[in-house]
Order: sequence, then structure tokens, then C-alpha cells
Amino acid sequence: AKGDGRGAFHFFEQAMDEQLQARRALELDLRRALQDGEFELFYQPLYHLGDERVTGCEALLRWRHPERGMVSPADFIPLAEEIGLIVPLGDWVLRAACAEAARWPDHVRLAVNLSPAQFRDRSLVATVVSALATSGLPAQRLELEITESVLLQDNAANMTMLHDLKALGVRISMDDFGTGYSSLSYLRSFPFDKIKIDQTFVRDILHDSDALAIIKAVLDLGASMGVTTTAEGVETQAQLDALRGQGCAEIQGYFISRPAPADEIAKMLGAEGER
Ligand code: C2E
Ligand code: CA
Ligand code: CA
Ligand code: CA
Repeated sequence: AKGDGRGAFHFFEQAMDEQLQARRALELDLRRALQDGEFELFYQPLYHLGDERVTGCEALLRWRHPERGMVSPADFIPLAEEIGLIVPLGDWVLRAACAEAARWPDHVRLAVNLSPAQFRDRSLVATVVSALATSGLPAQRLELEITESVLLQDNAANMTMLHDLKALGVRISMDDFGTGYSSLSYLRSFPFDKIKIDQTFVRDILHDSDALAIIKAVLDLGASMGVTTTAEGVETQAQLDALRGQGCAEIQGYFISRPAPADEIAKMLGAEGER
């Protein structure tokens, strides 16, 4: 390329190429990882402030990569979603999480995240039915978390899917509430069982009066609609106290517990039950 005046262009082309190759490599690595069983679930407790005990745990996906160590979902879920791998991966998550949760005390629910691509796949209902039947986990103990992005195209197919899932007896939570564009209209058009207030509001609750005002408004809204409200990302006693003061029912965050491997969680839940 030297001397033909296209050096800069070639450099650019090469950089693009490397980016594509890196992506292609990650894609192959992801498919292989699913076959090789490199995915693992961590669980993070949801703590009920009134009952003063753990009333649920959220399954959070981890990739134990042989060379790169523990990879965070933020680094591979978007690509898994794009290439459609999230559907088989999400199936695995549902089955593995239900099997684990069936061992927990009866009052502890399981929360599982669903991605938009999973949601558009009609086999989701059958997968949920089968994961519940195989594990023996009662449907009432399963909470499916969806974000507003699932509902972005507020179309009939999405609504049918939501209603079909609810008809199984599972609960539906709206995740990351307040970060999307039309949260309020979604609340009106579908009967959610739980609203999870996004952690960005909780992070600012003590020093930003607007964040506090929004949290208050969501808690009021939840109460008047008969919907449980969970605050995410609680990291300090002061944040917990502020949320309790506002009548928040349930919290989740590092202050209660970081996401932990299944064995640690089972031990914690067992010890709690013995008290
Ligand atoms: P999310 O559903 O909003 O999950 C909560 C995230 O906040 C988790 O990050 C959790 O580790 C983190 N977190 C919990 N408490 C605190 C806290 O006190 N402070 C801070 N700073 N962070 C806290 P994680 O595990 O990295 O997951 C990131 C996202 O990846 C999740 O956000 C969810 O959208 C997605 N994800 C995780 N597992 C799955 C899965 O099995 N399927 C799908 N579709 N998405 C998943
Ligand atoms: Ca979630
Ligand atoms: Ca969330
Ligand atoms: Ca999130």
C-alpha cells in the first residue's frame, strides 16, 4: 500500500478488520463455551424490609473463561443477543436456575432475567413449562424480569407472550424501572407484579432531591397499583434507612449481599431457616 497514497485508508481498513475478527472470535468462543459448560449462575438475595428476611434471589449469569477468568454478562450478553445465542443460553439459565431454586426454602422466590430475543421466541412458554416441571419448582416462586426494551415495540405478540407467561402462574417484574422512555404507559398496559427501581436512582438517593422524589413517586405508584416495589443497588445502611423511611418493601444490593455462587447462597438460606 506504500506510495499509492492510500496508506491511511489501509490503516483504517485494517483496524476495522481486526475489530471484525475479534468479534468473530468472541462469537465462536461463546458458542463453544455453551457446549463446554463454561457458564455458571451466581445468585443475589432480595431482602424484605418488613419480614426482615431474604424472600428471593436473582440468577445472574457468569462466564468462567479458561483464559480470561470470570467474564461479566455486560461483556457478552449483547453479542449473544445479536447472534441469537441468547435463546439456547437463556434456556440453560432457566433450567439451571429452577433446578437450584427448588432446593431453597418455600418462601424464597427465584428471579430470572429474560432478554428481548428470548421474548420474541415462541418456544419460551414451553421452555418455562418444562423448566418448572423438571425441577418441581412451583410457578408462583418464579419471577421473570423484563426491561422496557422488551416492550419497545408495544405489539400484540409481546402482549400475548406476557399474558401466556402470566397464565402459567409465574410473576412478571419490570426491571431497571425509570431508565426507559415510556415506563408509565407500560405499567398501564400490562399488570406487572413487581417494579424494580433502577440502581441509578438509589445511588443518588441521599444527595439528589430529584432522585429521592422519583423514588417516592414510584413507591406511591406501586402501592396504589398493588405492585411490589424493589430498590436495586443498595450499598449502604444510610440508603437502606432512607428507603425504609419511604416505605420500600424490598431491597437488593451489595449492602445485603453481592451475587454469590449457588453453594454459598444455599448455605446462607439454610442457616437463615434454622434461626
Ligand atoms: P440487572 O438485571 O439489572 O442485574 C443487576 C446488576 O447489578 C448485576 O450485575 C448485579 O451484580 C449488580 N448489582 C447488584 N447489587 C449492586 C450494588 O449494590 N451496586 C452495584 N454497583 N451493582 C450491583 P451483573 O451480574 O453484572 O449483570 C448485569 C446485567 O446483565 C443484568 O442487569 C442483566 O441485565 C444482565 N444479565 C445477567 N444475567 C442474565 C441472564 O441470565 N439473562 C439475561 N438476559 N440477562 C442477564
Ligand atoms: Ca434483573
Ligand atoms: Ca436491574
Ligand atoms: Ca441493568
